Amino acid sequence: MTKAGKKTLSFCDSVNLMADRAFAVLNMDEGIAKAIKACNSILEVKFPVNIRGKVEVFTGWRATHSTHRLPAKGGIRFASIVNQDEVEALAALMTYKCAIVDVPFGGSKGGLLIDPNAYERDEMQLITRRFARELIRKGFLSPATNVPAPDMGTGEREMAWIADTYKHLNPDDINYAGCVTGKPVAHGGIRGRTEATGRGVVYAIREFFRHADEVKAAGLVGSCAGKRIVIQGLGNVGYYAAKLLDEEDDAKIIAIIERDGALVNENGLNVEDVRQYINQCKTIKGFPDATYTEDGAAQLELECDILIPAAMEAQITAGNAKRIRAKLIVEAANGPVTFEADEILRERGIPIIPDAYANAGGVTVSYFEWIRNLSHIRFGRMERRYDELRGEAIIKAMEEMTGKDAPDIMEKGLIRGADELDLVRSGLDDTMRLAFQEILAAKRSYDEINDYRTAAYVVSVNKISRSYIDIGVY
Ligand code: GLU
Repeated sequence: MTKAGKKTLSFCDSVNLMADRAFAVLNMDEGIAKAIKACNSILEVKFPVNIRGKVEVFTGWRATHSTHRLPAKGGIRFASIVNQDEVEALAALMTYKCAIVDVPFGGSKGGLLIDPNAYERDEMQLITRRFARELIRKGFLSPATNVPAPDMGTGEREMAWIADTYKHLNPDDINYAGCVTGKPVAHGGIRGRTEATGRGVVYAIREFFRHADEVKAAGLVGSCAGKRIVIQGLGNVGYYAAKLLDEEDDAKIIAIIERDGALVNENGLNVEDVRQYINQCKTIKGFPDATYTEDGAAQLELECDILIPAAMEAQITAGNAKRIRAKLIVEAANGPVTFEADEILRERGIPIIPDAYANAGGVTVSYFEWIRNLSHIRFGRMERRYDELRGEAIIKAMEEMTGKDAPDIMEKGLIRGADELDLVRSGLDDTMRLAFQEILAAKRSYDEINDYRTAAYVVSVNKISRSYIDIGVY
């Protein structure tokens, strides 16, 4: 409750209210809307682990929001603030996200209440494997039904432990590697998965800038180049997004907000340097080439072209939404803008590229990894050399026909078969482009829609409701 006695919205309420706008636009049957919003099942486990001679009891959750497509998919976060409501909200977001980018999965999410920094590597391994065993034994983890991935506080390392635990408990499952995604490449992972969410954010921004009328409506012009960007969170997602925008798109990262404050430099920060500094010093404080301020949250209100919240949920709330001075907000994190803040920003005409689309690059490449695991072959393995030979033949034929040598760039472009990373990036780029175009088409086909979030939800619930109606509800 707030001081005024108004009920504060939970993360789940916020996601449901956002989905409700789409149901209203579509005039959707109330029962179907209810079925789509309901969280199918939630598991809470408490398990003991012996740490340094003392028994500690850990609490974890896995929510399966939807099973209209299987497996249900979504990350597992390890954090010292995580609860059932949050896990359920994040699972619902996964349902909407997968539908938006046409990834044929249901939505799920997991969380373990833990401060990963408080434990040694071996202890983390014990705890992770124990949590995985609980999920496997209770039917919440398998290549066919429920496939976790990295999220906040987890990465390749944890995914490798989970996959190995599953393999030992299910020696007959030939598809064991597909029980989790985001694994190291040496253990069945796919190239390009680690950077995928951040890269997807960049592909989303690039696609936005291909639509001149949308760019103009946001009060912007041109492309990403030279745009002044504020980013919150230099974790896995924020780091890759900021790095690519800085190095490939010539954007200017004018502020980086982290847990312990913010770095500001109007001329642009070198993202790689900041990351190296954080890795070494475990803080951003003292980074040369920038002004440090302790009040990180206040820097969300900096005047800028693009604000990218890439850290936690509920960072832009009814409290600060009125003071946001970005021309465009791109949600790289899940749920960084609350429902109330979203209403305020909509009224102020600040467009938001929503989380369920903007950060869908991670699950998109997870989908590629899962397919790779089921097919037991690396993408490009069969055709790469064949494509190179064909390129060579084309160049040779052209040279014979014209009597001239082919220029170098033509040779380089044609005599190179695509490897796995090329294919992953191409598939990701295509996915992000098509999804934005679908969102835009939805935004333009309904007079009631004037924001990308409602349009994205319309695209999503339209697809999900079709599968509920086709399969039937029993
Ligand atoms: N945790 C990521 C997300 O929130 C990735 C999920 C996945 O790859 O399954 O989208």
